Amino acid sequence: MDVRTLFLAQTLALVTSAAMLWAARAQADERNGLRTWMLAISCQGLAYLLLANAGRLPALLSGGLGNALGSLSVAGFYIAIRQFLGLPYSRAWLAAMCLAVTLIGFIAGANYVGATIFNGFVYGLVELMNARVLWRAGRPGLGRMQRLVALFYLLMGLVLPLRAAGLLLAGAQLHYLDLPPAWQEPIYIFGFVYIIVTNLGFLQLCKMRAEAEVREQALTDGLTGLGNRRALDEAMARMLARAQRQEQPSFAVMMADLDHFKSINDRFGHREGDLALAAFAARLKSGLRAQDQAFRYGGEEFSVLLPDSDAAGVLRLAERLRTLVARPGSASEPAISASFGIALWQAGDSADSLFGRADRALYRAKQAGRDRVELG
Ligand code: GH3
Ligand code: MG
Ligand code: MG
Repeated sequence: MDVRTLFLAQTLALVTSAAMLWAARAQADERNGLRTWMLAISCQGLAYLLLANAGRLPALLSGGLGNALGSLSVAGFYIAIRQFLGLPYSRAWLAAMCLAVTLIGFIAGANYVGATIFNGFVYGLVELMNARVLWRAGRPGLGRMQRLVALFYLLMGLVLPLRAAGLLLAGAQLHYLDLPPAWQEPIYIFGFVYIIVTNLGFLQLCKMRAEAEVREQALTDGLTGLGNRRALDEAMARMLARAQRQEQPSFAVMMADLDHFKSINDRFGHREGDLALAAFAARLKSGLRAQDQAFRYGGEEFSVLLPDSDAAGVLRLAERLRTLVARPGSASEPAISASFGIALWQAGDSADSLFGRADRALYRAKQAGRDRVELG
């Protein structure tokens, strides 16, 4: 097998990947590490081009620049993974690693096997660190893909030092690019698979993360940070399905509507009205139990889904919320209060029938003078 040709083929795969990433680059890339990843692949591609010609090019170019770019790419992948995971990293030891690899590469020069052995141990360690952090810092929904990529980092973290040990045993004068020992072959094949899995895997992780973020945004109300109407509909459908399967036999829906909110806007302006809505949402949320979920139904109306609720319990909770969200007014701040309507789930209920009962109870609370709780 011609190792130099294989090396060049890998170079081509890397440079093409880098060019594709460059063409598709976007703003989000900086935050999730893809920009760093792209730079790392570019460095790796150029490094392979120079390293594939070790012994043919001057030591400064192949051993020096080739290893400088190679170590920069290893540091780049390390940084990109941490950026993706939102973890800090130390530049100092990465810089020390790059410096050491470059120096040894330059000194080794035409006798490049020495540099390969040194790099094998150093890069192997970095790969193991990549594997560890990817395996541990799992993110919900990304786990399987993240662990697959981690597995390949683990394998490379084992292959590199083993290969270095093999080259060490085979002799320090070995010109393995021209006369490769047979056991080098599967390692280069594995290198190909590793490049494909780690690059496609990282891209896939970024794509999955972006999709999750977009979905999260689509379900969140921008002003209050609570779930929006769409999120409420989805949560309600899940809750009803669980109730019908008898997994969650009791739950309640609470509607809360701010009192005389129109006059707050009229007297204090829309901006103050918006702030009052956000503050109201925060206080409402702070008064809930862990299993309860609050949503902005629309305008100045809010809904809360309350699992494990009987009439007495949910009335107690609503009374507590009513006093918690109420705020006396001043010359510069509007007085805030809200009315609450509650409906308990009954067999045969649909979302419409439940919201209808809660709405009618809320209407009664308004009719009875506002700032009060009614059970439908
Ligand atoms: P009631 O006690 O009967 O509920 O009286 P109300 O004034 O609260 O009810 P109404 O439905 O007449 O008015 C609701 C007001 O809420 C009208 C609208 O301008 C205001 N509103 C709805 N959404 C927003 C918002 O996002 N920001 C602001 N500032 N105001 C909003
Ligand atoms: Mg209102
Ligand atoms: Mg209203």
